[in-house]
Amino acid sequence: MDAPTNSPHYDVVIVGAGFAGLYMLHRLRGAGFKTHVFERASDVGGTWYWNRYPGARCDVESMQYAYSFSPELEQEWEWTERYATQPEILRYVNHVAGRFDLRRDIQFNTRVAAAIFDETDSRWMIETSDGGRTSANYCVIATGCLSTINTPNFEGLESFAGSLYHTGEWPHHEIDFSDQQVGIIGTGSSAIQSIPLIAEQAKHLYVFQRTPHYTVPAWNQPLQTDPKTQHSGRKAYGYDEDLTMEEIKADYLGLRQRARKTFAALAFTPNPRSALEMTETERQQEFENRWKRGGLPFQGVFRDFAVSREANELAAEFVRQKIQHIVKDSVVAEALLPTYTIGCKRLAVDTGYYETYNRPNVTLVNVSKSPIERITPAGVYALGREYPLNSLIMATGFDAMTGTLLKINIQGRGGLRLHEKWAEGPRAYLGLCLAGFPNLFTITGPGSPSVLTNMLLSIEQHVDWIVDCLEYLRDRNIAEIEPTLEAENEWVTHNNEVASDHIRNSCSSWYVGGNIEGKPRVFMPYVGGFPNYVEKCRNIAATGYKGFVLRGVGS
Ligand code: NAP
Repeated sequence: MDAPTNSPHYDVVIVGAGFAGLYMLHRLRGAGFKTHVFERASDVGGTWYWNRYPGARCDVESMQYAYSFSPELEQEWEWTERYATQPEILRYVNHVAGRFDLRRDIQFNTRVAAAIFDETDSRWMIETSDGGRTSANYCVIATGCLSTINTPNFEGLESFAGSLYHTGEWPHHEIDFSDQQVGIIGTGSSAIQSIPLIAEQAKHLYVFQRTPHYTVPAWNQPLQTDPKTQHSGRKAYGYDEDLTMEEIKADYLGLRQRARKTFAALAFTPNPRSALEMTETERQQEFENRWKRGGLPFQGVFRDFAVSREANELAAEFVRQKIQHIVKDSVVAEALLPTYTIGCKRLAVDTGYYETYNRPNVTLVNVSKSPIERITPAGVYALGREYPLNSLIMATGFDAMTGTLLKINIQGRGGLRLHEKWAEGPRAYLGLCLAGFPNLFTITGPGSPSVLTNMLLSIEQHVDWIVDCLEYLRDRNIAEIEPTLEAENEWVTHNNEVASDHIRNSCSSWYVGGNIEGKPRVFMPYVGGFPNYVEKCRNIAATGYKGFVLRGVGS
């Protein structure tokens, strides 16, 4: 692809204006790089722009799911709930975009269709959906891990005469389900968040479940400061570190430092003991404490939760007993019991999910043994009957981690297509750079901890690493950086080794591409832990970018 001579040229083009793209732009600008961002949506926010379904909120506590790069921003922003809703997170992203004056370098409503490396000039030629051509010395892909929706190819789907929705591309206006028969397909995190709210509204809700999901209560609560005492008095986060919002703000850096030392970059204290060295009474006490604390830290119930099948099964059984206790109809309860390892599919965090199945207007349709046969103009046909519906909701997830990258025609050296390179699954050095694709960076790409961590801290770590790298190249007048195939292969081998016997890799999930027909089965995120990963990235930079080839003279 040749760029017209008058097409704009930048030091860096960023694809995506979610949390990653915005911080990348802010840092590059500060470092003096001429930068331009393309965003397919009409505004900032990424995943929080698109996922507007009822009940959408973050499953990481607000005080932690926030940028750490600006102490002023940390202090001035007031989260109102322990777990922020999608509208509140979107308000926060908009606040950040305004505060740092980011919008002037973002081109909205513009999808990047192609990015092709021009070896003669060591630059990326970018083609956009509006036919625009742009070039840049570096291209940073910040398109997120869950940004291409998955709609299963149900027979007859296009014939459905009612309203069809996908949780990942929800309309921007409120939808009133009252007096409606509603169907929802899927019982992952998005469904688990939306089902209780839709059930409150709908005349009847049919939940089509193929695989039951483990979920633990959020125990969400407001965080607002009491105007009389100027103190919230609410626990903003913390299992054994029950801190208020004010206490966190008084030492936000301390919270971040504690978070960065943990596997998932989340500040909470896991139990240091093995499940197998505790008595039954001690275990039950620990389970109950963690259940009362709620949220993802449930996975810290024992140190061997994710490594010992026996310990994991004890935790799984505890949750199953909770389900049987909460759900009154024993047949429904039985159908809701997951049997695989807990934490293999991402643990969900809910408000009143299992309780919803006690409502008379909710029916669980168990399609685990016999799949949905087809969609008809009137509804869903399954288990030998038609379920008549006014609205059908796909809560069927995403073509995760690789889907969006593969939708862009990305070509590296010698016309190598990303499609060819990733034909048997994604391969990347540190999940950041790709052999054969010089000067290309992927923020939270496959092969990095990304979705297994607090995304905000992972994004910041990647962005900071990339900026340091670009400054290093600029200072030395180096035109190209590219990982060697050998270094990339070693990293992929290491990834596979740490994932091989890991709990996360013990069932079919989107982590392994198991939800998309024909997708190669590869465990995509790096499961070696955040601190370990950060150390590796730091060492590679400190040794003059070991594993990379640096070439040419910059223009
Ligand atoms: P998901 O976890 O992939 O769940 C998709 C659901 O659709 C599964 O229950 C799946 O069943 C079902 N499904 C797919 N194809 C089907 C078919 N042909 N027939 C019947 N059922 C089918 O997707 P998600 O709920 O959107 O969540 C994806 C990820 O987004 C989460 O894991 C999480 O990382 C993120 N997320 C985060 C939050 C948050 O709180 N921050 C909220 C929502 C989502 P099977 O399990 O049998 O495949």
